[in-house]
Amino acid sequence: MIQDKPLDKLFDRFVKGSGIFKDRNVLRPSYIPDELPYREEQMEKLAMILGPALQGATPSNILLYGKTGTGKTAVSKYVLNHLVNKAKEIPDLETPLVAYINCRLVGTSYRVLARLCEAVGTEVPFTGLPTDEVYNIFTSKLDEKEQLLIVVLDEVDQIVKKNNTTGNDVLYNLTRLNTTLNKARVSIIGISNDLKFKELLDPRVLSSLGDEEVLFHPYSAYELQGILEKRVSMGFNDGVIEPGVINLCAALAAREHGDARRALDLLRVAGELAERRGSDKVTESDVREAQKVIERDTVSEAIRTLPMQSKLVLFSVYLLMKMNVSEIITGSVFNVYTELSEALGMEPLTQRRIGDLLNELDMLGLINSKVVSKGRYGRTKIIRLAIPKTQLINILSNDSRISRLFNFTPKSIK
Ligand code: ADP
Ligand code: MG
Repeated sequence: MIQDKPLDKLFDRFVKGSGIFKDRNVLRPSYIPDELPYREEQMEKLAMILGPALQGATPSNILLYGKTGTGKTAVSKYVLNHLVNKAKEIPDLETPLVAYINCRLVGTSYRVLARLCEAVGTEVPFTGLPTDEVYNIFTSKLDEKEQLLIVVLDEVDQIVKKNNTTGNDVLYNLTRLNTTLNKARVSIIGISNDLKFKELLDPRVLSSLGDEEVLFHPYSAYELQGILEKRVSMGFNDGVIEPGVINLCAALAAREHGDARRALDLLRVAGELAERRGSDKVTESDVREAQKVIERDTVSEAIRTLPMQSKLVLFSVYLLMKMNVSEIITGSVFNVYTELSEALGMEPLTQRRIGDLLNELDMLGLINSKVVSKGRYGRTKIIRLAIPKTQLINILSNDSRISRLFNFTPKSIK
């Protein structure tokens, strides 16, 4: 066998197992713990609303609100698991079916319906059928017997944001289902990360979906500490977490907006960094390093998943900065964008749409725009990239169409 000492030593670290982690899975976002402290009120309220299901009645529809990482998904799965287990103990009660659907991951309204078909035990092709037909397949299968279907639409704001009309249509049809079903009944739990989601809803949808509401407030630094402490003892070996580490993760995540997912990510990534250093201690500086890694990943993800038109707008801002244009305004971004889309053989959007896309990029933290007064010419918006140019280019170089434009010189820039 060929000897390779350094490689051998490196692999040995994996063979022996990490000195850091006892069980790294409990630190992953998908893990649902046995206890959800600081969410007693929300769990109780949800349980009260769903309780009638145990008497064969139909629970009201519910909307759960709160920013990301406030425990909405964890609490709903937890309460629904318990409800289903309880229902199984009751003789003569048809156990409720639960269809959990993450609308952001599932994507389109068609696929939401396809998932509903699956939940009631029938299959439809991945695409191709008219939506009405899928809807009929779903309802007739569901209505074959007396049963309750609880539909959880997690991140439901995403289907409405993606396509307001079809999104609202699907929701409207779902909320109206009970008036057309003979035997079966449906309850809907909608979950939204966006507190302003209600403004996007058709009033008819809102009035039946929002029968009941449960609000998830952000966790305080103190609460995040409590959540982390429980996970530390399950996920890490004894004594590897240095004093101050939990505090720091909690403080950084509280500053973010009380996000338990961020707090857990910080802790897990800090552990991974310590492991990679070959250390058996997780230190405060690992947490600070983890913070940088996560921020970098969040920005990459945000850019990678942008629609093509938005990538082009962002790239236009980059080109203007690269050419040392001192004050970048919407009009000049639009001109460069138009040249770029034509170079790619794409139909350019209107200047007004570009203004909207610029606002979205601002909200994502990818650009900064500042409104300045130009005396008698009124006010204009001055735009800058909010991320390092090299990072942007690194990420965009993975997009084969945009990377072709890296040496493009726009004529509109003088
Ligand atoms: P949301 O759906 O609101 O974005 P999640 O329910 O996915 O948030 O929670 C994010 C992460 O934080 C998950 O890993 C979850 O297990 C954990 N978490 C949230 N709230 C609590 C809590 N009260 N106790 C323990 N872990 C929690
Ligand atoms: Mg969630």
